[in-house]
Amino acid sequence: MVKALEDIIAASSSIVFFGGAGVSTESGIPDFRSVDGLYHQKYDYPPETILSHTFWEQNPHEFYRFYRDKMIVRGAKPNAAHLRLARLEQQGKLKAVVTQNIDGLHQAAGSKTVYELHGSTLRNYCVDCGKFYDVDFVANSTGVPRCTVCGGIVKPDVVLYEECLDEATMAGAIAAIRKADTLIIGGTSLVVYPAAGLIHYFRGRHLVVINMQPTAADKAADLCIAKPIGQVLSEKIDLDAQ
Ligand code: ZN
Repeated sequence: MVKALEDIIAASSSIVFFGGAGVSTESGIPDFRSVDGLYHQKYDYPPETILSHTFWEQNPHEFYRFYRDKMIVRGAKPNAAHLRLARLEQQGKLKAVVTQNIDGLHQAAGSKTVYELHGSTLRNYCVDCGKFYDVDFVANSTGVPRCTVCGGIVKPDVVLYEECLDEATMAGAIAAIRKADTLIIGGTSLVVYPAAGLIHYFRGRHLVVINMQPTAADKAADLCIAKPIGQVLSEKIDLDAQ
């Protein structure tokens, strides 16, 4: 708990949270952008190449090998940040979570209005007939997962490099940010476009950045907190921060 942030939360009635990989790392989900080196030991291509639409089309076996190994994380639990954001929504203070994460942990914590800019590993669809498959189906498959009805490839509902973000999700996120009185940015260095451009729609009073490293939004922010986000959003008193 950080008093300056709690004062802003207390004075706000329409908070939007915009989050990135740093929100999930405290639940044990690695940020693949920051651990690039590890993958080079096992894979012939960098993650940005493997997670592209072209690669998915041309090297599906290698795509799904990487995807099962690195992108599907099982047994992860919401952390203090996810839980606090869900409580703030229940209290009527927070109107939406906009996330770049694909792990479904905000919903697991109880959040209802979540705009998943990059999709979710929990949803998968046959590219031919549209049949839905859950994460276990893909996790337990071998080679390229195939639709049990029509034999089409089952593709994760995750936005790959070269693919467009979902228009309805973007529109919902923009509308929420436009109406917000407080925007809290957490666990993202705001380098991923177009998602990072969303913060330019904010017209409210308080901009807060919670991130271990400096971000592009720091200059415009009322409050920057360089601490682990679970600790910052926890309702426990943090003596060091007082
Ligand atoms: Zn099918």
